[in-house]
This record gives sequence, C-alpha cells and structure tokens, in this order.
Amino acid sequence: MTLVLGAIADDFTGATDLANNLVRAGMRCVQTIGVPDAHLSLDDVDAVVVALKSRSTPVKQAMADSLAALEWLQDRGTRQVFFKYCSTFDSTADGNIGPVADALLERLGADQTVMVPAFPVNGRTVYQGHLFVGDRLLNDSGMQHHPLTPMTDADLVRVLGRQTRHPVGLAARPVLARGTEATRAHLETLAAEGVRHVICDTLDEGDLEVLAEAVVNYPLVTGGSGLGQALPAQYRRRGWLAEVAEPGRLAPAAGSALVLSGSCSRATLGQVAHFLERHSPDSPRGFALDPLKLAEDERHLAQALAFAREALADSGPVLVYASADPERVQAAQAALGVERAGELVEHALGELARTLVDEGVGRLVVAGGESSGAVVSALGIRQLRIGDQIDPGVPWTQAPLPGREAPLSLALKSGNFGGPDFFTRAFEVLP
Ligand code: ADP
Repeated sequence: MTLVLGAIADDFTGATDLANNLVRAGMRCVQTIGVPDAHLSLDDVDAVVVALKSRSTPVKQAMADSLAALEWLQDRGTRQVFFKYCSTFDSTADGNIGPVADALLERLGADQTVMVPAFPVNGRTVYQGHLFVGDRLLNDSGMQHHPLTPMTDADLVRVLGRQTRHPVGLAARPVLARGTEATRAHLETLAAEGVRHVICDTLDEGDLEVLAEAVVNYPLVTGGSGLGQALPAQYRRRGWLAEVAEPGRLAPAAGSALVLSGSCSRATLGQVAHFLERHSPDSPRGFALDPLKLAEDERHLAQALAFAREALADSGPVLVYASADPERVQAAQAALGVERAGELVEHALGELARTLVDEGVGRLVVAGGESSGAVVSALGIRQLRIGDQIDPGVPWTQAPLPGREAPLSLALKSGNFGGPDFFTRAFEVLP
C-alpha cells in the first residue's frame, strides 16, 4: 500500500490542523504522535501526519527527529513528503525550518522545494515574500512578542536566508497570476541557478491551487495547512487518490462522555461557563479542580474522581476543569510557581483520563494544548485516526486502546478554538 502524502509537522496542534484539512479535502488520514511504530496499519489510509516537537527543540534534535520520520515514510513508498510548520513561520533564533528543510531535501535527493506558509482563510497571506497576519506585517502582528518563537522580520526570504547556507528565491504574485505553466517555468529557472528554497507569495485560494499544481511532482513541499488543503485535488487529477465518500468516517462511538479542561484561554472559559449554566444546580455536571488544593491534599483528586464516577453513571457529558480566570491562575502561580501549578493540573488530568477511560469513558474531549499532551501521554496513545471537524480546526479522532475492542473517541481542542457550546455540541455531532 503506497502512501500518497506523508507529512512531518513541527508541533502537535499544527499536525492536527493539517490532518483536519487533508480530511476535508478528501484524504483518509492518521496522525501519529512521534515517529510511528513499525507495525502501524495503513489500511484505508491515504495520508500520515507525524507530529513532532521540532519547532522549539535544539536544531540538531529537530533534524534527527525529522529524518527519522522521513525514513519511516520513505519505507512506505510515500509519493510526496510535506514538511508542515506554522502559517506564521514560527522559528526560534537558531531557526529550525531552514536546517530541517535542507536535511530532508538532501536525504530525498531533491534539488528544490517551495515554502508556502500562507493560509488565506485565516488571514495569513504572503506578498513579495512578506508575511501578513490580517492587515499587519508579521513583525507588527503580536508575533514579535511570542514567548518561544518571536518573529521580528516579515521578509521571509531574509528570515530563511539566515537559516540556510543555500540561496533563497521568490515566486512572486505577478508570476503566479500568469498561471501554473509560468510558475513552473519560473521555479525551473531558479533551480537552474541553484536556488533550493523558494518562498511563494499567496494571496488567495487561487494562488494555492496554482502552486499545488506546479509542485505536485516535487518529492518535498513545505508550508502551512493551506497548501495541504489544495494538494489532494491535484493528487486526484493524477489518479493517485481515489474519490472517497466519507474520508472522515470513524467507527461508531461507545462509552460515556467526559470533558477534561486544563485550558485557561478565553474561549475555553466561555465554554466552561456555558456548560455549567446548562445544568441545573441540583444536578451538577461540573467539578472545579484547584491546583492549590491539589498541592495540599491528595484527597482533592480523589474527590474529583468520585464526583466524575457518580455523574458519569447518569447519561450526558461530565466536565472536570482546572480552567480559571487570570486572577485565580496568577494566585495559584504565585503560591506554587508557574511550572508546578501547570504540572499539578496536567498530572491530575492525566490520572483522571487514565482511570475513567479504564472504567468505561469512550468519548473524551480535552481542552488545552499542553493538557491534551498530558492526557494523550497518560493514555499511551500513539496514533489518531482523523474524523470530521466539530468546529474549525478541531476534528473528532479515534485511537485504539490496548486491551479494548472499541476505540476511544477523542477531541483535542487547543485553547482558543471552538464555539461557546463546544462541550455539549461535540457529543451531539459524534456519530
Ligand atoms: P491552552 O491551549 O489554552 O494554552 P494549555 O493546556 O496548553 O491550554 O495550557 C494551560 C496551562 O495552564 C497548562 O499547563 C495547565 O496545567 C495550566 N493550568 C490550568 N489551570 C490552571 C490553574 N487554575 N492555575 C494555574 N495553572 C493552570
């Protein structure tokens, strides 16, 4: 079985975002957490997205992990490799995008790749090599203050030029506007000049289509999930990919429904409030975890568990949440330290997930990027089959569980995603 697309994503939520877009564009997709096991079944799978943490790890580690993922994909005859990074080109001062792309190109024996970070529906566009977030240049968009990957230069040719010893070129909008053939000819001219990396302008979906068609035969493409949305149509045109009626089809969900929330982002706080309001005070369905109490007394976690067990016996979802407003978070952090407060919550969510899934929870929503990581790792989950999206960017997924016949249905929501009724609606849309 040949994989059509194999993606190597530099972080977990970025991987899910790409996988979600691939499913929406008609590919059956599995996301793995780290390099997949040798025996991962590829039945009915068109694309695998390997989620790494290579955005913020030291550059040598990022290259080694990416090459290990590539080797796995090459062993499975993958037609096209996609190196996925953020639509805001997030990279550290050392810059991992250039070195990882160079390592992948070299191992694939390819001469050139394109860099297409843009995601026009989310307001990320590129013009004359400059990245915009909405109507602001990247370095004026708030991204210049990012704690891990501050982006202080919107000129991607220059940014990438600092990350690779190879020349960096540009495929500018006026070329794209002349269509696929002109774009391909431009890329070939650049290749003849020894340009290995080409930053590509993108203003809209039409530009993504032109680019996808121009590079469909490249062994390696790189970019954000916008390009991922445009490629599957090209694969179909070439007969590499069959039409699939329901690429996001999952096995029927079974088991009780639980929400674990460790996100304190604004959208999540609204979702918690919405959920609590829906349920009458005489039959509460929500339990508030408090990191200060977790630190003081292990009975607090036992109380959360007892509450969840009892509430899960009735039908309808149950919520356990550490989500709190900024003042309460700051108070916990001042008393415990930022790291310890986070660890206590993440450990508690992991324990609750492990125990309650063992006891029959089969549908689980987790809110928070770090919180999702903690839960997935406590459950020992290594791969997720990607289903249909609940809200933009958040799909239902399914994971096989050792010793259990039915898979676990799992939705991992990063902080600011999802509408206000997400914690109830997620279960209503699940087949
Ligand atoms: P998001 O996706 O919204 O950023 P994350 O789960 O990635 O959410 O990050 C939230 C972090 O805040 C986690 O490390 C979590 O453990 C921590 N946290 C959650 N609730 C509290 C709280 N009440 N006090 C302090 N830290 C908290």
